[in-house]
Amino acid sequence: KYYEPLRVGLQSANSGGKIPLGLKSKSLRIVVTGGAGFVGSHLVDRLIARGDSVIVVDNFFTGRKENVMHHLKNPRFELIRHDVVEPLLLEVDQIYHLACPASPVHYKHNPVKTIKTNVVGTLNMLGLAKRVGARFLLTSTSEVYGDPLQHPQVETYWGNVNPIGVRSCYDEGKRTAETLTMDYHRGAGVEVRIARIFNTYGPRMCIDDGRVVSNFVAQALRKEPMTVYGDGKQTRSFQFVSDLVEGLMRLMEGEHVGPFNLGNPGEFTMLELAQVVQETIDPNARIEFRPNTEDDPHKRKPDITKAKDLLGWEPKISLRQGLPMMVSDFRQRVFGDHKEEGT
Ligand code: NAD
Ligand code: UDP
Ligand code: UDP
Repeated sequence: KYYEPLRVGLQSANSGGKIPLGLKSKSLRIVVTGGAGFVGSHLVDRLIARGDSVIVVDNFFTGRKENVMHHLKNPRFELIRHDVVEPLLLEVDQIYHLACPASPVHYKHNPVKTIKTNVVGTLNMLGLAKRVGARFLLTSTSEVYGDPLQHPQVETYWGNVNPIGVRSCYDEGKRTAETLTMDYHRGAGVEVRIARIFNTYGPRMCIDDGRVVSNFVAQALRKEPMTVYGDGKQTRSFQFVSDLVEGLMRLMEGEHVGPFNLGNPGEFTMLELAQVVQETIDPNARIEFRPNTEDDPHKRKPDITKAKDLLGWEPKISLRQGLPMMVSDFRQRVFGDHKEEGT
């Protein structure tokens, strides 16, 4: 039931990032928590393609089996239904810890569960990393900067976060997850990596998860008005998912703990985003204004100098290039097989 650690793989994982991606001598055994979700499933595709053995751990709260179904017959792939709030015993070389609802609609749905996932779930995965000597990567978020008073956001900025608001279960949960990660690193010598991910979009996002890109794209395809919250002048920076996955893998294989901002510095107001969606899908798509949600950050844009300098990483795909790839996936799911939405 338990796995033997792959010692050769472990050495290459610990070799200080000198071995380029894809040129490792032996495959690694890797856990991806939240691997049936949007980002996780794209990461799994890359790891499997690289020759690694991947165990996905997911409770399917927002993830879907369909996202990883194409690997089910692969002997190097394993899918475990498990909630990371409960302890887990595995023998692995690396842990990519993604399990956590990411859309505000999902994480506000059960805030106590969200903070438990971030705190207890992260503690368990760090305990696992400590026990087996695995390298641990936390997917943190730009939300740790809150409603930022510095623009663009640099990793050294400590943020402006409301500790008692409706977003706090996520923001403060991730901040605590970062704290735990650093304390296991300093206190127990666990090899850790921290990524602060900025808004990411692409194929396989949940269609009705309430995030702005998925909302606008689904609405424009269904000929419904695009719902702009507030005055639509708030900004976000949108990163295509393949750029993020490349950044996460470079971070894991490299020698730097972080935190690293991983995001696309191209900044758009929500009205500008609606315009790009109109250009991509339907020039006649209408816009409808709705009241904004509480504690909505006014602006967000990553400073990615650190990731450029230390990981040699920067995003390659602009919003206008990436959006059509997401639209064709959404078109299929909105007008095609509706069953997959029910997982
Ligand atoms: P997602 O909701 O598609 O994926 C999250 C996955 O975690 C899902 O498969 C879900 O079922 C699983 N999960 C949730 N709670 C769990 C639990 N208690 N136990 C086991 N599995 C659980 O979201 P995503 O966009 O793929 O985000 C992945 C990670 O990246 C998250 O940690 C998120 O906070 C972080 N992140 C994402 C973005 C973004 O824009 N997508 C931005 C910042 C940070
Ligand atoms: N843990 C886990 N899998 C492991 C090792 C630990 O899920 O392989 C959990 C464990 O149940 C505990 C948490 O991780 O709740 C922290 O473990 P650690 O050993 O650091 O702390 P302790 O058990 O001493 O509190
Ligand atoms: N937003 C919007 N219309 C929508 C959904 C979201 O205008 O249908 C806005 C939201 O108010 C926020 C921005 O888009 O200012 C990004 O929201 P999202 O939920 O995608 O992610 P966040 O960055 O807030 O976590």
